[in-house]
Amino acid sequence: MVQRNTWQRERVREALADARGFVSAQSLHATLRDDNTGIGLATVYRALAGLAAQGDADSLQSPDGEALYRACASSGHHHHLICRSCGLTVEIEATDVEQWAKRTAERHGFRDAEHIVDIFGLCASCAGAREEKRDAG
Ligand SMILES: [Zn+2]
Ligand SMILES: [Zn+2]
Ligand SMILES: [Zn+2]
Repeated sequence: MVQRNTWQRERVREALADARGFVSAQSLHATLRDDNTGIGLATVYRALAGLAAQGDADSLQSPDGEALYRACASSGHHHHLICRSCGLTVEIEATDVEQWAKRTAERHGFRDAEHIVDIFGLCASCAGAREEKRDAG
């Protein structure tokens, strides 16, 4: 394995750690561009895919099909609550979901079952801001 572009990958990792919630490759690339790092979008895509493959980043699909990434605090299996307005992300455990998924897989004779369950919505402060706007206008 050639260890080219290692600093770029580290830079992407840092930018991801600084992000408050899930971000797309494009928005992370925009942040890096503002810092004049000269890192290309293709490199950001590759770095993010690599971090996700190594388990250093969580990845998921937004409701409109975009790949999003985040450097999560927990390395074990967990779920996410994501604000679709500001990107605020909360890591959650979902014991009910684990039991339901296990039971359902077993009932259908599936082994090695995995699942991805993430909840998108409006966080309290974004929902509040929206209410205020509606009241004003
Ligand atoms: Zn996570
Ligand atoms: Zn929000
Ligand atoms: Zn789960």
